Parts: sequence; C-alpha cells; structure tokens
Amino acid sequence: MATSIVSQEELNVQFNYCLKVKALIEKRLGRTPLAFTHTYGCQGNVAEGERIDGMLRQMGYDFCDDASKADFILFNTCAVREHAEERVFGNIGMLKKFKETNPDLIICVCGCMVQQEHIKKRLKSSFPYVDIVFGTHAIHTFPQHVYECLTKEDRVFAVPESDGVVFEGVPSKHTNDLKAFLPISYGCNNFCTYCVVPLVKGRERSRRYEDIIKDAKRLVSEGFKEIMLIGQNVNSYGNDFGETNLFAKLLKEIDEIPGDFIIRFMTSHPKDCSKELIDVMAASSKVEHHIHLPFQSGNDKVLKEMNRHYDRAHYIEVAKYAREKIPDIAITSDVIVGFPGETYEEFLDTVSLIREVEFSSLYVFMYSPRVGTKAADMPDQIPAEEKSKRFNELSDAQAKVAEGRNLNMKGKTYRALVEGRNKAGRLNGRTSQNIMIEFDGSDELIGTFQNIKVTEPLTWILKGELQ
Ligand code: SAH
Ligand code: SF4
Repeated sequence: MATSIVSQEELNVQFNYCLKVKALIEKRLGRTPLAFTHTYGCQGNVAEGERIDGMLRQMGYDFCDDASKADFILFNTCAVREHAEERVFGNIGMLKKFKETNPDLIICVCGCMVQQEHIKKRLKSSFPYVDIVFGTHAIHTFPQHVYECLTKEDRVFAVPESDGVVFEGVPSKHTNDLKAFLPISYGCNNFCTYCVVPLVKGRERSRRYEDIIKDAKRLVSEGFKEIMLIGQNVNSYGNDFGETNLFAKLLKEIDEIPGDFIIRFMTSHPKDCSKELIDVMAASSKVEHHIHLPFQSGNDKVLKEMNRHYDRAHYIEVAKYAREKIPDIAITSDVIVGFPGETYEEFLDTVSLIREVEFSSLYVFMYSPRVGTKAADMPDQIPAEEKSKRFNELSDAQAKVAEGRNLNMKGKTYRALVEGRNKAGRLNGRTSQNIMIEFDGSDELIGTFQNIKVTEPLTWILKGELQ
C-alpha cells in the first residue's frame, strides 16, 4: 500500500483557515487569544501535540500554563490503558466550571481516545461543553474544525476512519529547547493482541527518507542538542517502501551530520532489531548507548498469545549481541503483568528474564483490557489484586537489578547533557545510558555536555561531581 501524503494544495487550504480563524478571534476578543494545551501518552503524541500547537500559533494563539485563563483548551489524549483514559475524563469534567464563567471558551479533545467509537459517543452525550472532537486522522484539518466551530456555532465531531496519512511542512512548537522529537513513522502494523495503538493510529506509514534528513539538519542548525527519532517500531522503518534495514542506514546518515548533538531513538521492536542496527550504534559517534527494547513477557507461551513474533531466546540473543558490541549499553524495557491466562509460574519467567538481562530501568504495566483488541475477549482475565501483586513483585526485583547496575557506575566518569536544575537546586544531566545524574554547577552549563564523576549511585538516579 502506498503511503497517502497530504498534498501542498490541501495544506494551503488549512493555512487559509488559520488566517480566517485569526481574524475572527481577534475581532471577537479584541486581544491576543490564549491557549492551554496538554498531551497525554507517548512521544508520538507529544510530537503530534507540538504540531497542533504550531497550528494554534498560526491561528494567532499565544500559550498559557493556567487553564482558567485560557480562551482555548485542548487535551491530546492517550488510549493505551484504561487508567489514562479515566484520568482524561476526570480532567475534562473539571473544565465545566471554566465554560460556565467564560461561554466563549473553546474546549477541544483529540487524539487516540476519541478515535474509538464508544469514547466519541460518551463525549457527545455526557460532555456537552466539549466543542471540538477530532481524531488521529484529522490532525491536519484541525484549523478547519476550529473555523467550523466558530462560524456554525455548533459542536464539531471530526473522526474519520482511515489507514492514516502523512503530512509535512507544519512547523512544530517545540516543548523543550534542548531536546527535539523527530517522528520517522506513524501508526503500527503489528497488532499485538493487547494493544489498541494499531486500531487508533492506523497502519504504519514511514516518512520520506529525505524529509527526515532535512528535518534533522534543521534541528541541529536550530541548536537542539538531542534528537530523538520516534516511531512505534523504528526498526521496521521503510518496510512499507519495500526496504529492509533502512533504519540502520538512516541512523548512520544522521550520525554523520556535523554538529555537537546526540541521537536517541525509540521504540525498537525485538523481532525487527537487527545486528546491522547494533553495529551502526557501536560505530557511531553521536548515537547514545541506550536501547529501549520492550520484551512484554519472559514466557514463550505468553509472548505467542501476545502475537509478539519472537521468543525469550531471541530476546536474550539480541540483548547479548548489544552488550558484546557496546559493553556500557543500557537496555530498558516495557513489560505487562497479568496478561489473560498468565499463570504465576509464567510470570516468574518474566522475573527471571529481568535478572538475566539486567535492565537499567523498566516500565511495568498491569494488563488493561482495550475495546476491540483480541486479548480483551480472551478467557482467564487476571483479577486486579493478582495483577497488582505481580506488579509489586516485579518492580521490587527490578529495583534491586537497577541498584546493582548503578552501583557499578560508582567512581566512573560519564559525559552528560546538562538539562536544567532540579527542585533541590542542583543541576540535572543525563548520561549516554539515559540515567539522570545530579551535581552542583552554574547555570551556564545548562545545554552543554559535561563530564561528571559518579560519587553516589542510588536506585533511580546518580549523584556526582563535575570534572
Ligand atoms: N510500540 C511500542 C509500545 C507502545 S505502547 C512497542 O511495541 O514497544 C507502550 C507500552 O504500553 C507497551 O510496550 C506495553 O508494555 C504497554 N501496553 C500497551 N497496551 C497495553 C495494555 N492493553 N495494557 C497494559 N499495558 C499496555
Ligand atoms: Fe502496540 Fe505492538 Fe504496535 Fe507496539 S508494536 S504499538 S505494542 S501493536
């Protein structure tokens, strides 16, 4: 299937809507309008949120951190787990009082949650003060929906069904001055049985190689110190062009861009994580020594039921190869406990895997049934208390693993990007392994790379001294 790219003409139409909205709002308010936006979920969502903010800026909006002062409030939502969805509903509920005091306020909800029929219905019937709802395939038509809302004086629901599109050329409003997300693909083709992402974000669409390189060069010239390449499965980048291993080539070419910056990427699917990729990482000067490689379960039966297309032995082999080629690499991962039918013994395979691979950090999730996924209809759903027990057991085991790994870092010196100051007034840096290190120093160091010696390794962070 050829990737559907939104044409320049279609984008120009949207740009015109931006100008029309700008004129309308300025006339209505007689001042610069303020927007409050919040994104939930993954880096992919954050990057989409930055493009949405970019469009709002073109519509004449400035931004504020206080929702009660805003003329436009937008929630860009995540559907991966039920807990995240309930939090969003709670936060939407709190907006009712703002609408009562400011009837001109526009409230907008978009992203993965609303792409689900039952959520769209719930927003329609139970949240009448939400003005605009647009799905993941209507992001590029966002200006038009704002215009429709302003002129028709009616609620707008724009949630088309689609395999997804790619649109270029919409300037992002970056949320961080030092670190930039650079999407290389959208959507996902893997259909892991627990996961709603392919249902709400559409099929995997790779961006054109040359568009990514152009963006990377621009980000470097704008002074960003870290570029994070993002996709649901970066390792399958280009498969939709009929290419294999294109990600390794892309990474190499970005590594060769001159400048003082580092490169990270996420997420790597173990089934597509090639030796070539690890070799490129090992030979590069700018790719950091960290790989996020979600394993989800340490048990082969559960992995099969999850439709992950690799087994425990393959995962261990990839991790081993990575450590052989890059001895100080940090491997981090995602894992789900309490997948339907998972027995306690099968769960113990997950515990043993984390000890064997020695992850630097781990995101542990309790399985959450998602409407429309295969796993939601599987028998033997695990009771909440059992999931929570396994969650605690695994988190405790991982804390010990991380503590041990960090202890080995004591006395060694690491180069770190200095990101800012923490609440305790100390500087915060991040090592190549993506581990936070705090130390004392002056503000001028923020945004530079510094060598820091680890003096006190803790479980989650390191304490150190500037060298
Ligand atoms: N594309 C990425 C992950 C995207 S979702 C990958 O394949 O690695 C991020 C993480 O959320 C997943 O790795 C998984 O651990 C978790 N997750 C996804 N669906 C879930 C569900 N239904 N319940 C609990 N955790 C889930
Ligand atoms: Fe979800 Fe699996 Fe795709 Fe990751 S690879 S987004 S877990 S379906």
